[in-house]
Amino acid sequence: MPGFELFGEKEKSQVQDVLDSGVLMRYGFDGMRNNHWKALELEAALAKRMESKYAQLVSSGTAALTIALASAGIGAGDEVIMPTFTFVASFESILAIGAIPILVDVDDTLTLDPVAVENAITDKTKVVMPVHMCGSMADLSALKAICDKHDLLLLEDACQAIGGSFEGKPLGSYGDLGCFSFDYVKTITCGEGGALITNNEAYKTNADHYSDHGHDHVGNNRGTETHPFLGYNFRISELNAAVGCAQIERLDNFLDIQQKHYGVIRKELETLSNIEFRRVPNGGVENYSFISFFLPSTAIAKKAHTALDEAGVDACFYWFDNNWHYYKKWEHLIQKKSLGKLPQEVLNQLPDYTKADFSKSDAWIGRTISCLIKLSWTDEQVAERAATMKEVLARFA
Ligand SMILES: *Cc1c(COP(=O)(O)O)cnc(C)c1O
Repeated sequence: MPGFELFGEKEKSQVQDVLDSGVLMRYGFDGMRNNHWKALELEAALAKRMESKYAQLVSSGTAALTIALASAGIGAGDEVIMPTFTFVASFESILAIGAIPILVDVDDTLTLDPVAVENAITDKTKVVMPVHMCGSMADLSALKAICDKHDLLLLEDACQAIGGSFEGKPLGSYGDLGCFSFDYVKTITCGEGGALITNNEAYKTNADHYSDHGHDHVGNNRGTETHPFLGYNFRISELNAAVGCAQIERLDNFLDIQQKHYGVIRKELETLSNIEFRRVPNGGVENYSFISFFLPSTAIAKKAHTALDEAGVDACFYWFDNNWHYYKKWEHLIQKKSLGKLPQEVLNQLPDYTKADFSKSDAWIGRTISCLIKLSWTDEQVAERAATMKEVLARFA
């Protein structure tokens, strides 16, 4: 998956443009910048590739999620439905604006179970936030129907699945808002960075202002611009944006490489009767950044994961025990360990997750192994890896 594997001349040349002008900031300094507007350029390229009207480039994927929520007017006490299997950024972004993360089960797609989502809706629910983990997506058509029925926003976290699609639409563009991360380990990278996409002009305007201290960006004198509402600084630098300008042009090539490598491994593993692959919802096309599969039981999956590691198959993940991606290890959230006092709404409304029953998630995640698809492998390395994986996994019937 990682774009850092293929960092080269194109990225260097884009960064050099910025270094030559010396304008490292995305706003202002019009005269000095030699017409280089890397952040604007990347926003235009991203909006085009993602078939969305607007893109807002910001400092991280977590910032993009926070801004997406803020732009849609979500705030203190509003409930946001999110999956038990994701990255900590999901609840970080929700808590950042004083909203309440409502965790719900995942199913065999490794993403939000639509039935669990519907069951979790209350009169405070405002947003459903599916997270397209490990290169594949939630059942967006089922989730959209639920959101329409209950008048909720659909916010897609597509940070791990950029370039995948659902019913012909790029992931991130199906819902009301979609977010991407361009951190150093994502499919394409800015070093650090993120973006949101939307077709809603008001959300775009809000995101544009909110991510830059509320600046209205009218005229070309930052000092005299007004601030229609409170904001924050989530700006990306031109240096980071420049890296992304080169990387986005390579996205489709990266996806082709991932798909090719994935195909070789999948073909080999499909011959095993003890392995089931994660379900991709009807209408979905993965971005092939991971291959994820289920072993017959949690105990077997644990052993198989260790065996893969011992056989030298690197970059395979057993999420069930993972500190960052599965609710079981989020004791900081569960026990509300914040530095200072949390907003009163959060203290009052956050469910008592020490008592939560996520056995349905456990039943899937406990059996799951996901292996990263790397861009830099040679064909020989992929073939060898596929053969080793098959040989190791065959032992775990
Ligand atoms: C990486 C990631 C994020 C956050 O992105 P950062 O740019 O690292 O802040 C959010 N959600 C998911 C699913 C991610 O994988």
